[in-house]
Amino acid sequence: MTLAKGREFLMIPGPTNVPDEVLRAMHRPAIDIYDGALLDVTDTCLADLKTVFGTEGMPFIYAANGHGAWEAALSNTLSRGDTVLVLDSGRFARGWGEMAAKLGLEVEVLAGDWRRSVDPQAVTARLAADTAGTIKAVLVVQVDTASGVINDIPALRRAIDAAGHTALFMVDTIASLGCVPFEMDAWGVDLTVTGAQKGLMTPPGLAFVAAGTRAMAAHESADLVTFYWDWTFRQGSEHYQKYCGTPPEHLLYAFRQALDILLGEGLEAAHRRHALLAGAVRACLAVWAEGGAMEFNILDPRERSDSVTVMLTPGFDPKALKTFCQQTCGVTIGGTIGEIGGQGIRIGHMGHVNAPMVLGTLGAMELGLAALKIPHGRGGLQAAIDHLAAALG
Ligand SMILES: *Cc1c(COP(=O)(O)O)cnc(C)c1O
Repeated sequence: MTLAKGREFLMIPGPTNVPDEVLRAMHRPAIDIYDGALLDVTDTCLADLKTVFGTEGMPFIYAANGHGAWEAALSNTLSRGDTVLVLDSGRFARGWGEMAAKLGLEVEVLAGDWRRSVDPQAVTARLAADTAGTIKAVLVVQVDTASGVINDIPALRRAIDAAGHTALFMVDTIASLGCVPFEMDAWGVDLTVTGAQKGLMTPPGLAFVAAGTRAMAAHESADLVTFYWDWTFRQGSEHYQKYCGTPPEHLLYAFRQALDILLGEGLEAAHRRHALLAGAVRACLAVWAEGGAMEFNILDPRERSDSVTVMLTPGFDPKALKTFCQQTCGVTIGGTIGEIGGQGIRIGHMGHVNAPMVLGTLGAMELGLAALKIPHGRGGLQAAIDHLAAALG
């Protein structure tokens, strides 16, 4: 028996739901890449990216996924043998570091904990000990999609300043931009990377990088620069140079539409929506957790992100719940990855999500918990509704 006929919900932390208007924006013939309407699409996307990043710096658009944005950031600013300090708090900063090692950089991981955000004091202590200035860049993610943590970016900036260190501060906002506040310039971030397919509601295939003054200066002497990622070439006067070849036209139209949706809602309103829906998810999961079979991966409630929630499920097989939600209810939730792979579930609540999608997902999960006889506190869905009612009433 299945109840899964009807519109499916994709509630994994990326790729996320693509709005119908965004899908429709791609349904058009290919057009000239040298002249005409596409040039305007590029210009307005670049201008709006500055707004979304909160920067007066230089934005770049790549035909790539998030890994491409990582490589663009590193290769444009660093040189073979430079040391980067990776602030570990989950899978993704580490992955960025593994890429750095392959590029010929020396990588030091500041040991972290998958259940906590990065400790600013540990960052200050490590950088203060680097009196020779060997560390050229500090790499961190704002939201780690594997652990569900949100790192305090302004606090980490202050931590770097407290050590009087000049390393470039690079932040991965792939799972957070458009979902939670981010102010590149005001927060003193030198280089920001993001991708299209999470909070930005666009099909996978576009990556975005914004470079501040210090990152642009570092680019002048970086020797890891390669032809495809090169910022200098991409600032050339011909339109095709901005993409180092054929622009991903249809994705650009999709992104243009997604920006219209996001900026039409307003960044602050989008952040508030994410906070409310995430609060509803957490209120529900906290009640279920009273049954003793599951717990939040992130221990401190203040460090739980508003774009993805990660639960450990020591009391049951997460795959059974996932399969029930998918096959019986038509709702796809995520499994855990990396060090905690197979040990829990991840719920993505980022991008194009609304109350019925979140409440429907929680309802399907609660049905799954009941049908599979998994111990859980009663009334989780009600707690989610109460949370929203209190905020909206
Ligand atoms: C998804 C994700 C990435 C990787 O992006 P891809 O598009 O899969 O290459 C990197 N960092 C974070 C925080 C992510 O959530």
